[in-house]
Amino acid sequence: MELMNFINGEWQKAEGAEFTAVLNPANGEELARVQLSKAADVDRAAAAAKAAQKHWAKVPAPKRASYLYEIGRLMKERKEQLAQVLTKEMGKVIEEGRGEVQEGIDMAFYMAGEGRRLFGETVPSELENKFAMSIRAPIGVVGLITPWNFPVAIATWKSFPAIVAGNTFLWKPATETPMMAYEMAKIFKEAGLPDGVANIVFGSGSEVGTAMIDHPDIRVISFTGSTDTGRKVAEACGRNLKKVSLEMGGKNAVIVMDDADLDLAVEGILWSAFGTAGQRCTACSRVIVHKAVKEELQSKLLERMETLTMGDGLDESVKIGPVINKQALEKIHSYIGIGQEEGARLAAGGKIMAEAPYDKGNYYAPTLFTDVTPDMRIAQEEIFGPVISMIEVGSFEEAVDVNNQVIYGLSSSIFTQDVNRVFAAQRDLDTGIVYVNAGTTGAEIHLPFGGTKGTGNGHRDSGVAALDVFTEWKSVYVDYSGKLQRAQIDNEI
Ligand code: NAD
Repeated sequence: MELMNFINGEWQKAEGAEFTAVLNPANGEELARVQLSKAADVDRAAAAAKAAQKHWAKVPAPKRASYLYEIGRLMKERKEQLAQVLTKEMGKVIEEGRGEVQEGIDMAFYMAGEGRRLFGETVPSELENKFAMSIRAPIGVVGLITPWNFPVAIATWKSFPAIVAGNTFLWKPATETPMMAYEMAKIFKEAGLPDGVANIVFGSGSEVGTAMIDHPDIRVISFTGSTDTGRKVAEACGRNLKKVSLEMGGKNAVIVMDDADLDLAVEGILWSAFGTAGQRCTACSRVIVHKAVKEELQSKLLERMETLTMGDGLDESVKIGPVINKQALEKIHSYIGIGQEEGARLAAGGKIMAEAPYDKGNYYAPTLFTDVTPDMRIAQEEIFGPVISMIEVGSFEEAVDVNNQVIYGLSSSIFTQDVNRVFAAQRDLDTGIVYVNAGTTGAEIHLPFGGTKGTGNGHRDSGVAALDVFTEWKSVYVDYSGKLQRAQIDNEI
């Protein structure tokens, strides 16, 4: 199967039509070939999106929303097929694949509801016979750049609010996971979304991503990916005075206090550290544990880690799938040497699974480092694989400090039975998302998603907050006094 760009409602061959293979990370099998597009393809898609946006902005928002209801319905109807494609191209286990598709369905229905809200404000004017209100206005053509780890959910967090708000978009999926984008293009078409509202251009970040950022008709860039790439994207958008929303890396921690339910904490850690083979932006990659329960937590964790089954995510009994590619395997593995040199103790894992039946895929053994100190690189840098760094602390205050001593600020979690600590933690943990008595993952689509510090630049995906990325506030004053009234001058308050 050759995946072509989706522009103006049609499948289009890219300039030069160069292709690259899409590989199944579970076994190396070639699943498809995807185009590597050029700047000229971005021009073509941006022109189609610009032409379509003129009409789309005038379609009443409830009508725009009706397409999202249909998109959501089609996704629901095809949930299993979509989940299978997702698991094949990305590697996450099928249960999580279904969950990710469900997230997209939820987003479709939630944002469709916004078609009848898109609330602004009406406020009293300071002058007589004058009306004042704010409305959300669409921005125009928006550019969406997404990573491979959530090939569909993140795209829905961005594209659905963009659609309902009256924008048209150009989406560049990651080259590792174009098949879900291809499936979504089919759904957009079947849902009857007018041509040019949704456009997909496949290709590399350096070619297609850069061309999008530099394109004068693309007014917003909504990016999710690593902090290194995000910084480059922000710099280029800054030069172009382009609105940019960045959702980037994380170094998320689970805090386990001395009064925690340890069995529950172990389940929360396992799910958030090893789900998606540790490749979620919200993955737990640090466990900050009170010294009074450290030994017990560690032995319970090691015991449960041994029961985790690894393999092809399509097998329902598998709990840990492969990582995305060979480079990811090497990067994860490089941190084992780094951690050991820094003085951490490798308590489990720490190896590439090179023997049958794992040799054809990209499998990494679930790994636990103990005796980690907060300044070590394995406690500071995003490893993006199934690796936990366990750090011992002596108090709640120290746990919060350690949590906050990283450049990232995406997600954090605390296991405790003490309500006072719960409230202090949600106030003091410097992350965009805080969980209590749950792991670091599991966001619901109707709340904002994103992080502080090196994780973001103040914007949020998901929830009603996403509309702030894809709309401009417009303030409207209607003077029905029939005379010139001057604000701040002709009113006597
Ligand atoms: P990445 O930064 O390598 O790539 C992300 C996207 O940016 C891809 O589509 C890529 O092609 C594109 N890109 C690369 N270079 C570019 C450039 N110079 N200009 C424009 N676009 C460019 O990230 P990845 O490896 O695909 O994803 C993993 C990263 O994403 C992790 O750091 C993870 O934490 C982060 N992530 C963050 C969130 C969040 O919401 N905070 C969610 C998921 C993933």
